[in-house]
Amino acid sequence: MQIRIAGLVPESYVDGDGIRFAIFMQGCQRNCEGCHNPDTHDLNGGRLVDTEELIAAIKKNPLLDGITLTGGEPFLQICAATELACAAKNLGLSVWCYTGYTFEDLPTDAAPLLENIDVLIDGEFIFSLRDLELQFCGSRNQRIIDVKKTYEQNKIVLWSEIGG
Ligand code: SF4
Repeated sequence: MQIRIAGLVPESYVDGDGIRFAIFMQGCQRNCEGCHNPDTHDLNGGRLVDTEELIAAIKKNPLLDGITLTGGEPFLQICAATELACAAKNLGLSVWCYTGYTFEDLPTDAAPLLENIDVLIDGEFIFSLRDLELQFCGSRNQRIIDVKKTYEQNKIVLWSEIGG
């Protein structure tokens, strides 16, 4: 399956916990003031790559703790993102994902992707709430959500609350 990406960071130390293969997905229509990745906005920009190519690169690195889907907006390419997330889970890796949606407002067809995400950083970047002290997110409205615990407890459970 093809996926449109803006770029890759094969070993990232800042896009989640541990060493992560970060995939910057292309396309976002939010135009948040102060966005750090404006080059990822154009829905037709970036480049198309095969998900199998990315999975092969992920498999090759035994040091990885997980993958991170970021962007851009990963939920604009749900099928390709789901394929990557499933492959990562099958390899025993964790999956983190950044989205401009809030957890409550994710698209109705988001379930297959969400079920394969361990940690979701939700909400768009709000410049007036920017906080450089935050770990793994840019503005105070964003939440680092433990998705599985959130499903289990039927309420938002933050990753930091479970010792993350
Ligand atoms: S949601 Fe993220 S990628 Fe999209 S404009 Fe906002 S900060 Fe940039």
